[in-house]
Amino acid sequence: MPSLTIVGGGVAGLALAATLDPATYDVTLVERSPGAGRVPTAFGIWPFALEALARVGLADGLRSRGLRLASGLITADSARRPVATTQDVEVWLVARPALLELLGAAVPGTVAREERHVDDPGALTGDLVVAADGARSVVRRRVWGDEPRDIGVVAVRGVLETPPDAPLDRMHEFWGDGMLFGVGPDPLPAGPGTNWYASARRRGASPEEGLAWAREAYAGFPALVRDALAAATPEQTVVNPILESRRPRGLVRGRYVLVGDAAHAMSPNLGRGACEAMVDAIVLGEALNAHGPEGVRRYERARLRAGQRTRVASGLARRLALAPRAGRVAVAAAAAGGRRGHRGGRLEAWDASDPSR
Ligand SMILES: Cc1cc2nc3c(=O)[nH]c(=O)nc-3n(C[C@H](O)[C@H](O)[C@H](O)COP(=O)(O)OP(=O)(O)OC[C@H]3O[C@@H](n4cnc5c(N)ncnc54)[C@H](O)[C@@H]3O)c2cc1C
Repeated sequence: MPSLTIVGGGVAGLALAATLDPATYDVTLVERSPGAGRVPTAFGIWPFALEALARVGLADGLRSRGLRLASGLITADSARRPVATTQDVEVWLVARPALLELLGAAVPGTVAREERHVDDPGALTGDLVVAADGARSVVRRRVWGDEPRDIGVVAVRGVLETPPDAPLDRMHEFWGDGMLFGVGPDPLPAGPGTNWYASARRRGASPEEGLAWAREAYAGFPALVRDALAAATPEQTVVNPILESRRPRGLVRGRYVLVGDAAHAMSPNLGRGACEAMVDAIVLGEALNAHGPEGVRRYERARLRAGQRTRVASGLARRLALAPRAGRVAVAAAAAGGRRGHRGGRLEAWDASDPSR
């Protein structure tokens, strides 16, 4: 039986282990810190990822743990300016621990689990070694000779136990000259809470520093933003430097295969990284089940361009969102004609002073 070692038990590694046929592969999953991630921030799960989860029988489980979003708003820096809204999209929000628990429960008991940090991918056993070890992948560094770029932007984000003072099916982003703040619901086990995130051109910081900075930087923003930051605590706040991969020539090198952020670490502005990671993993697992270890080439053909396209689009979205006058650009684009957004979303402009919205 061919053997396969997966480095990393995040969304990509778990989705792959859950997809592989245990009667066909002898699988080992190596994760340095299972269950890590102290703050249950939310992921947006888009239809293309839900379709892949449906193929492995996990879409209903995701819906039952998630909360459906009906719309997303972008508001220019002052709440009195018009805003843009996306509608007609089926996006589900799920807390990261709930997603990991769903994927983890689907991993067959035959998968051997090892809890350790991998320093040397060359020392791993396995006919195939799958790098699901995230943006700072040791496999990508050692085998591809490649490091991600720190683009000098951080995301300060956190969770509150109470929901925002806004509709529970809406994400709201505020864009202002070089600033971005997002706030929406978070489907926590005890009931809906708040998921918030702030983005800025600066280097890393501790949660205390990140929160202090955000409170000062967003003091002039609307009450929804100020209230979230006033209620936030350092214990429920994380600061992530944003890393972007370079384009790899291929996803397969010898016995090594890249999936998820190891293949395409991206800016979080489109909320697609975990979605692409799960689709990579499920497509790879399906190709290996159907075609044996040679299935890696089918996976590469199916997924190389798709992941890199989203990485590039996410970088463009970040530049637009953090550009001077970004809110007004978004509104102008929306006003130019109700364009179609990504996979079915519709972008419109409307006047924020209209109390019915
Ligand atoms: C602010 C922010 C918001 C985001 N919002 C969204 C969103 O709304 N929707 C969405 O789809 N995506 C979102 N993402 C992106 C998402 O977080 C990532 O794309 C996704 O987590 C990638 O999954 P992965 O499994 O490839 O990597 P990771 O989640 O990074 O998992 C890698 C795993 O490998 C383990 N590991 C790493 N190195 C080693 C080693 N040497 N030895 C052993 N184990 C190792 C780690 O402990 C980790 O568990 C967001 C990201 C950020 C920063």
